[in-house]
Amino acid sequence: MQGVGFRPFVYRMAVKNAVAGWVENNNEGVSIHAEGSPQQLEQFLTDLKAQAPEAASIREISVSVAQSHNYTVFQIQQSHSYSQLVTEVSPDIAVCSACLADLSQQTHRINYPFINCTNCGPRFTIVKALPYDRHQTTMKPFALCAVCKTEYNNLHDRRFHAQPVACLHCGPAYQLQDGQLFSDGKALAELLSPQIDAGKIIALKGLGGFHLICNAHDNEAISRLRQRKARDGKPMAVMVKNAEKATQYFQLSATEKLQLESWRRPILLLKNKLPLAFEVSRGLNTTGVMLPYMPFHHQLFEVLKIDVLVMTSGNIADEPVIIDNEEAFDKLGKIADFVVGYNRAIHNRVDDSVAFVVNEKARPIRRSRSFVPAPVQLAIEAENVLATGAELVNTFAIGKAKQAIISQHIGDLKNAETLAFYEESFTRFGALFRFKPQLAVCDLHPDYLSTRFAHQLDIETLEVQHHHAHIASCMAEHGLNEKVIGIALDGTGLGTDGTIWGGEYLICDLSDFSREYYFDPVPLPGGDKVTDQPWRTAFSYLYMYFGLSIFIDENAMKLIPDQKDLPLLMQMIDQGINSPLSSGAGRLFDAVAALTGICTQSSFHAEAPMRLEAAIKENCQGKYLFEIERQAISFRKMFYKILEDMKAGISVGEIAAKFHNTIIVINLKIAKALHKKTGINKVVLSGGSFQNRYLLEHTENILQRAGFEVFAHQKVPTNDGGISLGQLAIGAKYLQNQIKNK
Ligand code: ZN
Ligand code: ZN
Ligand code: FE
Repeated sequence: MQGVGFRPFVYRMAVKNAVAGWVENNNEGVSIHAEGSPQQLEQFLTDLKAQAPEAASIREISVSVAQSHNYTVFQIQQSHSYSQLVTEVSPDIAVCSACLADLSQQTHRINYPFINCTNCGPRFTIVKALPYDRHQTTMKPFALCAVCKTEYNNLHDRRFHAQPVACLHCGPAYQLQDGQLFSDGKALAELLSPQIDAGKIIALKGLGGFHLICNAHDNEAISRLRQRKARDGKPMAVMVKNAEKATQYFQLSATEKLQLESWRRPILLLKNKLPLAFEVSRGLNTTGVMLPYMPFHHQLFEVLKIDVLVMTSGNIADEPVIIDNEEAFDKLGKIADFVVGYNRAIHNRVDDSVAFVVNEKARPIRRSRSFVPAPVQLAIEAENVLATGAELVNTFAIGKAKQAIISQHIGDLKNAETLAFYEESFTRFGALFRFKPQLAVCDLHPDYLSTRFAHQLDIETLEVQHHHAHIASCMAEHGLNEKVIGIALDGTGLGTDGTIWGGEYLICDLSDFSREYYFDPVPLPGGDKVTDQPWRTAFSYLYMYFGLSIFIDENAMKLIPDQKDLPLLMQMIDQGINSPLSSGAGRLFDAVAALTGICTQSSFHAEAPMRLEAAIKENCQGKYLFEIERQAISFRKMFYKILEDMKAGISVGEIAAKFHNTIIVINLKIAKALHKKTGINKVVLSGGSFQNRYLLEHTENILQRAGFEVFAHQKVPTNDGGISLGQLAIGAKYLQNQIKNK
């Protein structure tokens, strides 16, 4: 429950059923004291369940009998404590169907593109301070007209206390570079639509930042967009007119349809059905798809001839998405043929959120718009704990009572602009939630900019091993506070022994962990270079397992782009020059993708594993052999057989399937071994590799069939975007242990 007009809703239902009493927010949610006849109370309860605003998400309603106070009216109690106010900052909510209907019905809002009500509209993106009140948002410059004011003050109106309420006469308007204002969304759509048809690129201000938009069928337009924006080969998200159209272009299960149409309107990764322009997803078998969520998105599709638009974030390369009109006119003006802003400021920048569905459950990949700042409930108190997050896919988290408030997706901190965004967001969270950190939890890696940020704060710090944080993150979102078997399959994280970890089988709780098994460490010749050049890792695995004998294998030799680099490469590995050891699962996936020729050079983060997954031949049960040597899982036999399979002309699809099946079986085998050793039956999955749908689906299923209780991420990303939550949980536990020891 977060300031989504729930209390006015309860009030209206009470009045409707002639129920007296009160409603108030508290730390646990909402309390209602209701007095009336049994029939009235019964109907009141039914209405609460059936008609609640979508974004209110009622987890449970518990009813008990109270002392009657003979109330004569029903009242909304004001929030009085600070922590109650926190829960009232709602994430942004997609425009509701009632408001869309009003676009053609309400005379003061005909075609008005900033229509909203208590059930929908901007929230977090416009809020500057608490309590959440119009004058503390970027709606402040827009004085309510008499009509809007009446609605705002009328408890029976859907717009009662809707802070961003506005109309044609008093609210924000779209704005072109020449200053021209549009309060009529339809007129603006009619202006832009022929441009999009003609292959032009539009920069359009969204809820949390600008988008770059063009026709998703126009290969030439999209490649121009990629070029101008200096975008690597990463696939681009699309927006589709509605769910029916989405089912034409993409495979859509019932759960996926529900997610797509939810008020959060995330970008959902869906399997392609009808092809769009090649440049959208560049040969990957999935596309990021979302439905319209601002009134103007709907208005644009009304007018457009096409049903699918490329809709990618309005930024240059990896910089944060642009939110400011002037900056957009300046920078995005060089990419887009038209830049369309609007004259209300975005205060908190948020990207579109991204998720996918596996085993009928939604799994977040990027948690931002419409999720932030909704808190995650923790099992223990985390007041004043700050978690500074990881580096590449950063978020930070702050502790408020038993809640974790996780920042929006920040991005790669190595980028100067992104680091500035991190610092800005941290300052804003501090002000908004009146947060003053007393303990800063960070990664073990001393060079992460988030680690340095923690150390600069001049408060107590706690360094947490990356994969311990991954598992703790998944534990935290499931309320686990006990010993578990943790499987962290990930790209990169610094281990306690100074090597790089990432294929880790842990026994851990929120206080500590032990590393029980791990993927065979392999030297990474060239260090960071291997992420762009997966062939290096493939070569290194083969050289490690088979030494000079790989020289007689044609496929192994084909890996090296330039044969004269070979002696140097071998020397680097032999002598350990710039060749750190890594047990990272991501590197193993890289190596198999490179060896099979699926991806030898990578043009964006995690391209090789993504392409390897996309290549999997369906319904292929085969797998490879592996060995466990003390604690290390050796892939010698697997690589030997892959080379044989390649020689025998086995398809890459089959090899990809057999490889994935091997990892899934390893997960089962190790879980069983650890269960035998400890008796623990709970298995927690985390780390970036579990963004691989095949790996996640089959690992969950095989473990469940074997009788394990399996936990994977559903609230925060399994990638490094979830690290801050794990750090926060470990920090909270650390404080709890300290108090106990005193
Ligand atoms: Zn609405
Ligand atoms: Zn008005
Ligand atoms: Fe990680």
